[in-house]
Amino acid sequence: MKMKIVGSILSLIAIFSTTTPISATEGMWIPSMIKSLVSDDMAAMGMKISAEELYAINQSSVKDAVVHFNGGCTSVLVSDKGLLLTNHHCGYSRIQAHSSLENNYLKDGFWAANHDAELENPDMTATIIKEIRDVTSEILKDLPADATEVERAAMIKTQTEKIVAEATEGSHYSAYIRPFYYGNQFLLFINEEYKDIRLVGAPPSSIGKYGFDTDNWVWPRHTGDFSVFRIYADKDNKPAEYSEDNVPFKPNYHLPVSLDGVDENDFTLVYGFPGRTENYITGNNVEEVLEVINPLRLAMREASLGVIDKGMAGSELTKIQYAAKQSRISNAYKKWIGQSKGLIRHRAVAKKDSLENVFQDRVRDNEEWNEKYGSLLLEMSSLDVQLKPHNISRDYFIEFYYMGPEILRFSGGFNELVEMSKNKNVPDEEIEAWVKERLGKLGYFKNYDAQVDEDIMKAQIRHFLDGQPPLLFTIKLKDKKESLNEFVDRIYEETIFDDEAKLKDFLEGYKRNDYKKIEKDLAFAFSKRISDYYYDQTRPKMMNYVPTQDSLMRVWMSALMEVIPEKTYYPDANGTLRITFGKVEGYSPFDGADYLHYTTLEGVIAKEDPTNPEYNLPGKLKELYEEKDYGQYADESGEMRVCFIASNHTSGGNSGSPVFNDKGELIGLNFDRTWESTMSDIMFNPTICRNITVDIRYVLFIMDKFAGAGHLVEEMDLVKG
Ligand code: ASP
Repeated sequence: MKMKIVGSILSLIAIFSTTTPISATEGMWIPSMIKSLVSDDMAAMGMKISAEELYAINQSSVKDAVVHFNGGCTSVLVSDKGLLLTNHHCGYSRIQAHSSLENNYLKDGFWAANHDAELENPDMTATIIKEIRDVTSEILKDLPADATEVERAAMIKTQTEKIVAEATEGSHYSAYIRPFYYGNQFLLFINEEYKDIRLVGAPPSSIGKYGFDTDNWVWPRHTGDFSVFRIYADKDNKPAEYSEDNVPFKPNYHLPVSLDGVDENDFTLVYGFPGRTENYITGNNVEEVLEVINPLRLAMREASLGVIDKGMAGSELTKIQYAAKQSRISNAYKKWIGQSKGLIRHRAVAKKDSLENVFQDRVRDNEEWNEKYGSLLLEMSSLDVQLKPHNISRDYFIEFYYMGPEILRFSGGFNELVEMSKNKNVPDEEIEAWVKERLGKLGYFKNYDAQVDEDIMKAQIRHFLDGQPPLLFTIKLKDKKESLNEFVDRIYEETIFDDEAKLKDFLEGYKRNDYKKIEKDLAFAFSKRISDYYYDQTRPKMMNYVPTQDSLMRVWMSALMEVIPEKTYYPDANGTLRITFGKVEGYSPFDGADYLHYTTLEGVIAKEDPTNPEYNLPGKLKELYEEKDYGQYADESGEMRVCFIASNHTSGGNSGSPVFNDKGELIGLNFDRTWESTMSDIMFNPTICRNITVDIRYVLFIMDKFAGAGHLVEEMDLVKG
């Protein structure tokens, strides 16, 4: 039966090309498949370039200019010298890492005057996709029809390793295979990964992050969310680790940059790496997100943000230290609020339920389907009930251990040393090498404030433990009278992991038996108890459900396509390269309000508020505005456009994605969605879901007129008309 589903789903995917409604902008399409699936729809909406110009493997194509930025964001090549544009918020942690009180690039911006002044970024990657290949039949070719889920997973793993090894043999390429449509299809991605990526320029945060948290996920928007990097390669133009001898990378393709701007209803295409969507989850799943998961995440983040925001408001140093962390926490925090609002307002649970009712009715009326899918939804909902407590536990763990007080993860990292030290087979030299390496990583403390960390733990610990009663009983309070706050006080009083000097001292004198001191350290012990609870108890229980869950989702996906064929199906985002198309359009967020599709510098100036650090503006920008000195970057009426919205279906990971016009020219950098549209990760609504793009003319204007980095603009191929 399983083989039959796999066989049939590929033909089902092909059939949908003919049923996609012309106005549909929903969907994140695989570039190698757009020709057969959606290129007619794209052409009908106004696209003038061919599918081959967007994606080809034997000749250069637009895909060669779309670069996965450090595995999380997207970026785009705009010159034959490897110049790379992405969002300010994507480059933020790098800008922050180079910043200090003396050189505050977050506050003042940074512009390298020449190649020599461009700043090295250790451990950064920029990945270009060379080829996408459908390997479904190779992966599943030897799978017996009656294989269990465990056998299936083992077969996929073996085949994956084999195909990846063959695809990369004798080359410097890397490759990975990802499942699509929940394991009904498998695609191989062959990649070239560059490792010498340098910071070239960034506007001050008062432009690149203008409006900060208040404006994040909000329209109308006035943020110049861009930063500039450059890929370097060795003398043969191949990826190489950082070296002074490296030279600017010469890409196969770089994008022409349009000065024409956009009008309402213009075609737009976004090319990038959306991270994760869950568009096929059930009404039950949405209910769990709304009633349990989002509220618990919000409570945990509200607690930590309260502490961090206060710390940052009180000290310039804390502001620099916690800028990137604060953004990471608050970004998803605000998104989840919008997502819940949107899902509730647009009755997502009811809509999903009614789709499931249609499915169930049709299945009941068809003998073959009834046999195959009759109990599917019931099985799915009973699995949901069993998984729910573990999902809760997992999310509390993520929010506390990975997103909460840093001491937990930091001290937890020393478990490796404890284990090595206990193990007689590990030679002393290996331990010494470990300690030496760790001594080299104490730069961690540059961005750490023990008081802020302690306050975060105090703010979160009650939520964390209340959500997981079994864990509460394992916390070793001194005696019955010790409060959780006192317990936290004790941790930070006694630990060596919150102080660089203490830890350095300890490591420098480290002897094998000292592992006992680590084990006794209260921060380490607490961290270990929490992570053991998750990794030894919660996770294994969840893993037991994975085979069933995988199989149900896979069958659900193909069953939907078979039973409700009139709908459009695209694979959920999974961090792989996608194309989405749409058009420039405003929207009505709620009754009585109508939003325009663009914003201008006029609006930037109008938002200025010297009493509010989120809305301070650099004097130079105000001067340029006063003088209307916009040069070639103004629109036809002389205005300076800043951002625009369109109906492309995007997600996290699409940050920094190039936005193209109908001719395949760069018109902007995607950087956000409106608050009402953050629900699109679960349910896309074409009437309100809008992606936000910074107009490329504003980017060029800031570089050229504001920052005096016109030499960078000169590197690009500007086109007009
Ligand atoms: N601004 C978003 C992000 O940082 C991009 C999006 O989700 O649309 O993830």
